Order: sequence, then structure tokens, then C-alpha cells
Amino acid sequence: MTPTRDARTPLLIVGHGTRSAAGVAQFAALVERIRHRDAVADVEGGFIELSRPPLTDAVGALVDRGHRRLVALPLVLAAAGHGKGDIPAALAREKQRFPGFGYAYGRPLGPHPLLHDALAQRIDAVLAGADRAGTWVALIGRGSTDPDANAEVAKVARLLWEGRGYAGVEPGFVSLAEPSVPAVLDRLRRLGARRIVVAPYFLFAGVLPDRIVAQTAGFAAAYPDLDVRVADLIGDCDALADLVLQRHAEALRGDIRMNCDTCAYRVALPGFVDKVGRPQTPHDHPDDPVGGHHGHGPDHDHHGHQHGHGHQHDHGHQHGHGPDHQHGHGPGDGHGHGQDGRGRHRVGGLRPGQVAIVGGGPGPDDLITVRGRALLDAADVVVADRLAPRGLLAGLHPGVLVVDAAKVPRGPSMGQDAINDALVAHARAGRRVVRLKGGDPYVFGRGHEEVQACAAAGVETVVVPGVSSAVAAPALAGVPVTHRGVAHDVTVVSGHLPPGDPGSLVDWTALGRARGTLVLLMAVDTISKIAAVLVEHGRAPDTPALVVQDAGHPTQRTLTSRLDELGALAVRADIRPPAVFVVGPVVALG
Ligand code: SAH
Repeated sequence: MTPTRDARTPLLIVGHGTRSAAGVAQFAALVERIRHRDAVADVEGGFIELSRPPLTDAVGALVDRGHRRLVALPLVLAAAGHGKGDIPAALAREKQRFPGFGYAYGRPLGPHPLLHDALAQRIDAVLAGADRAGTWVALIGRGSTDPDANAEVAKVARLLWEGRGYAGVEPGFVSLAEPSVPAVLDRLRRLGARRIVVAPYFLFAGVLPDRIVAQTAGFAAAYPDLDVRVADLIGDCDALADLVLQRHAEALRGDIRMNCDTCAYRVALPGFVDKVGRPQTPHDHPDDPVGGHHGHGPDHDHHGHQHGHGHQHDHGHQHGHGPDHQHGHGPGDGHGHGQDGRGRHRVGGLRPGQVAIVGGGPGPDDLITVRGRALLDAADVVVADRLAPRGLLAGLHPGVLVVDAAKVPRGPSMGQDAINDALVAHARAGRRVVRLKGGDPYVFGRGHEEVQACAAAGVETVVVPGVSSAVAAPALAGVPVTHRGVAHDVTVVSGHLPPGDPGSLVDWTALGRARGTLVLLMAVDTISKIAAVLVEHGRAPDTPALVVQDAGHPTQRTLTSRLDELGALAVRADIRPPAVFVVGPVVALG
């Protein structure tokens, strides 16, 4: 998706949306202001949720006017969930909607001297002649679960302090990060501040800026002897239009590096080690009515964009970081993690509308792969099998919809059809779907049937291999399926159809002649017959045999016997599924 390098390439300004009509009006005014500059060929603005026009209409309008290549600019101050995850994810959906549509993705706006100057102007305006030297500033950011985004606010606070003559500038946050507004105001009071200006580091009106005003008023009422004022928001202004156009030009030059040295999704930062290498997950401003992936749950649908805020910090972890996340890096950035929409391999990514078929391992929570676990964190919907690691379901975000496939009524094939339909329906609704299966999805897991069903419906899939019980169950019972000098082959067989069944595809005669390791799944009901047929076709009756029930679970049972006694043992010991049988000389090594 190399955009044309024409400096007049159209501009798409993307907002995250707000419940505030004033905020929407300010956004629209900025778009209009930029349009009037006539610096670029065309300008549209749209929101990924909550506000009109939706992004999809803005893109549609540009496409209708014949544009295929454009610059998409996230109208955000710092790179956090919106810039890293939600907006790239929304744009990726547009690319799917409009073949041939491509975009260069611009950087977040801040930190930038134009913004710092605008903040200083807002502060001076509310000071109305009172001197800067006697004024402390509390610079209040939105607050994020992404430490890098919070650090940006601290950086802006420092830059605002440098050379401007304020008594001091301290950062604070209205949600998700400390210090809170009351906490930073109290800190300034203890430092001896008599006059404080609260400067919201926000572009436009919204619920959170309103909250800053309310919290400041509460503090001021408690300390009537202090002079506490709130500065205006940055708002629609020429400086902001200038900066947007700078970001547009920069995106076309292709040099839109963002600093990833302190990104929690790449580097182990203290307290955030669990984020490394993961998709960025929904960013969850729990008290922010604008967002709340977790509050909404998967059935929430804005503009066909189901993701709440799309709070997809999806190491996409959507962190390209995030599922689609280009990390604010533009196209071609070689950033290394994440997928970039150009077909390069992405580790751990899951886009809205995609289904990940994930092998969960044999049952314990910690035998899933790192990639599988990351995708689970990125999911909006999880469709889980009975034999999947069900302990993991309890740890999902509260808003994630869990569909229990074990409860789908079973019939000859009806259960599978219902599951396929569910996968397709959720994906088409723009959700990130994880199909969580036991073991490996392609080992008697019907995983490929689901891939085919999705493909037939035009739904993209990714497959994450898992640790199959065929190998794991013997291992967890202390038996290797191969061993040098003992067994040089291992055959994994489904016992769901007994020998002689007309539907069986298994050559039981050949298996009777074989000497290596035989692993039987789904064979609890058929093991007597299978053992007899193996002996009949040449397998030694005293071949060591093993059964492992509930492998990996606290209830795991392991029993051994001779092959010719295996059926009787299974009955006597009341072996129940899930169980794996192992036949061969390796069993004697256990
Ligand atoms: N895809 C799965 C297998 C699905 S078929 C995998 O790769 O493991 C279901 C069969 O798997 C069960 O009948 C049983 O034979 C085996 N199985 C799955 N989990 C098991 C477990 N924890 N312990 C023993 N056998 C298990």
C-alpha cells in the first residue's frame, strides 16, 4: 500500500468518537479549517465509534470521489490504544471493503512545540494577567494502561515548564493512571502553591475533560484560600491545523518512526513484563463512557464496529502491536511485530473479523502456546470446546463472550454446523474470534473443517498449533512416544470407529504388523476390539500397553497392562474419556 507521494494526497482524519456534541463540533470545525487551507486534494473526517460521521462514511466519500490512496491520520495526542490499535483495525476493515484502497498512516500529534505553545496560550488566557512565576500548572492527560502514553504526558509537562517561567508543571491523569487530578492538586498545595492552573491535555470537549473541571471544582471548594483555575482545551485552532498538515506531509515522506524504545509491547518495562510480545489488548478505560470494551461486551455495535473502543490494544496485542497495529509506524516500517496488511507474517495478531483456530493443549492452563494465549487475550468472542483448557476462560476480560461448544446440541453433524455458523456470524459482525480447541486443532480436532467453513463464507482464519494429547498424555505419564533403539515410528490413530466398521479408513492389519508405537485417541469404547484385532494380525500379546485418563489434570490416572489384557483393564478400571492408549515397547520405559 504505497500511497502516491503527491504532496496533495487526500487526508483522512480519524477520531475515536465522543459522547460530547461539543467535541464532535470541534472536530468538524477542525476538518473544515483544514479543508479551507486547500493544502491537500481532499479532506474527510470520521470516527471509529460513537460519533457521526463514522469512519466508514468518510472513507466511502473519498472513494466515491475517486481517491484510492490517502493519508490516514489518527487525531490523538499520544500513541495508546486508539492510535496503536483501534484506528489501524478500523482502517484494515476499510481496506477489506474497498479493494485497491490504501493509506499511509500518520503519527500521533504529540509531543510537539505547536501543542505546547497552544497549551501556554490557554494557560495565559485563564491567568488573565496574573504572573507565570507565581503559577503552578497541573497538566492533566487522559491516562492509559500503556505506560509509554503516560510518560508522554510527563514529557509534555516537562517541556511546558522549560523556559516558560511557571513555578512548576506537574503531570496528572483523569483516568487509569496516577496521580489523579485531586492527588496532583494536593501535591501542588503541599509544595506551597497558592495559584494553580489545571491545563487539560485534550484536543476537544468530552466526558473526561468535563470530569477534570468537576474534580478541580471539588478540590477548589475544599481549599477556598487557593486560587485554582482551569484552562481551556486545545480545541480547533490554526496551530492544530498546522500540525495536522505537518503530520500529513511526514506520512507521505514515509519517515514516520515512532519511538518504540520504551514500548511495553516490545521492551520489558518494570510492572509491565507481561505485555512483551503480546498483542495490544483493549485498553479499557473502565470509567470512560466513551469506551469500555469490557463493559460493552461483544454484542455492542457502533458503526458496525463491534469493538467498543476497539479497545484493542490487540498486541494485535493487535499491537502489530495489536492486531492491526502498525504502531503508528507507517507502511513498510519493518517494525517487526504485527502484521502490516501487506501479507507479511504477523505473530500473534488477530484482526476484527478474523477467526483464530487455537490449539489449547491437553487441558492444563499452562500448556497452551504463548501465541495462543496472546490471541485469547485479544479475543472478543471465544468458542471453547469441552476438552480445551477451560481454566483459561475464567481469566478472560469480563466483556468477552464465551460460547460453550460443549453445550451445542450434538447430532450427526449438526453440532459442527452450529459451531461453524457461530464462528462465521461473529466474525462477520467484526469481532475477533478465537476458536479454542483441545490439543492441536488439526489432530482429530475438526480444525480444518472450521477453516474451510470460514473460507467458504469469506472469513479469514489463522491457525495456532497446540500440544496434542497424542504426545502430551504419554509424556505426562512418563512415557516417550519414541526412544532411540526402542521405537522409530509412532502412529496416531482414532479409535472412534471399531475395526471392521465400513466407515473406517484405518488399515488395522498393517497396524498389527507394525512394531513401533501406536497411540489411540477416542478409543475408550473400542479398545477391546482394537487390541484383539492387533493381536490377531501379529502384534505380540504381551506388548506393553498404557492408558492415561485426564492427562495433565489433577484427576490424571495412569494404568499399564499387556496388550491382550488392555480391554479388560479398561472395563475393570472404569476408564472414561478423555483417555489415550499407548501400545508398544516404549511403555516399558515409563
Ligand atoms: N485435538 C485433540 C484431540 C481431539 S480428539 C488433541 O490434539 O489432543 C479427543 C481425544 O483426545 C479424546 O478422546 C482423548 O483420546 C484425547 N484427549 C484429549 N485430551 C486428553 C487428556 N487431557 N487426557 C487424555 N486424553 C485426552
